[in-house]
Amino acid sequence: MNRLFYLLSALLILISPQLGHAALKVVTTTQDLAAIAQAVGGEQVQVQSLTPGTRDPHYASAKPSMIRKVFRADLLLVIGADMETGWLPPLLQSARNNRVQPGNPGYLDLSAAVPLLGKLNGPMSRAMGDVHASGNPHYWLDPRNGVRIASAIASRLTELDPANTDAYQQRLQTFTRTLNDKLAVWTAALAAMKGKPVIAYHKSFIYLADAFGFTIVDEVEPKPGISPSAASLAALVTRIKDEKIALLIMEPYYERRSAQFLHEKTDIQVAVLPQSVGAQAGIGNYIELFDAIVAELKKAMDT
Ligand SMILES: [Zn+2]
Repeated sequence: MNRLFYLLSALLILISPQLGHAALKVVTTTQDLAAIAQAVGGEQVQVQSLTPGTRDPHYASAKPSMIRKVFRADLLLVIGADMETGWLPPLLQSARNNRVQPGNPGYLDLSAAVPLLGKLNGPMSRAMGDVHASGNPHYWLDPRNGVRIASAIASRLTELDPANTDAYQQRLQTFTRTLNDKLAVWTAALAAMKGKPVIAYHKSFIYLADAFGFTIVDEVEPKPGISPSAASLAALVTRIKDEKIALLIMEPYYERRSAQFLHEKTDIQVAVLPQSVGAQAGIGNYIELFDAIVAELKKAMDT
């Protein structure tokens, strides 16, 4: 009986502070934001993500359960930079919750808290593919941005719930310290990747490359969101051979045939990287996400 007993008492201890006062209801568009909000908010918040980490966050369809979450939310955290433009606006409209409408204190767009890479200048057209004009939205894949995201969330929680300022600030400090310590470990583990050319499937790893000093020289997708053709794959084969590119990185949710083809033709190593918290079993928080990414990269380099 003992394990169950301990589990139940641990649960009770976790739950009981919330019986006294209502926790802030935080809803996030992705599991990465949920994990960081949980780390900073602790027992003062109740966090739910609208999408699971196993899915491509560019796409989601508004389900009634998602509308209910947004309806009840005190704070909505979004990736922004056009990541959710395809699905969040109708959800916000259906939920009819004024607290979390853009411009109100219950709406926080985290893309404003980080330096965005990949901003585009000049005219845009559909022919360019599914591009993000305001900058690349995959910024949570730089651990240094994790600190910026956590800090922005802590400020907003403090604003909405000033009584718990100390708790939010303390957890932010702990989170920042842990992340900075780990960053040194990850950087050392990936030292051999510095300056190396890498191919990515989608334009989603430029922040990861920036953090660890490797260079993404090309993508398997000829344009963002557009599948490769036989001709574009053939051009990549030539490029990989000419420039001796040794590594291809991709998210688990893309098709594997193209990467397999490139591997067979050129012997390039393929690393399937979990791109989000929850993408794989065992990735329950933001630190574990990078532990898993770094382990996959190391494995591919050592092969
Ligand atoms: Zn993208």
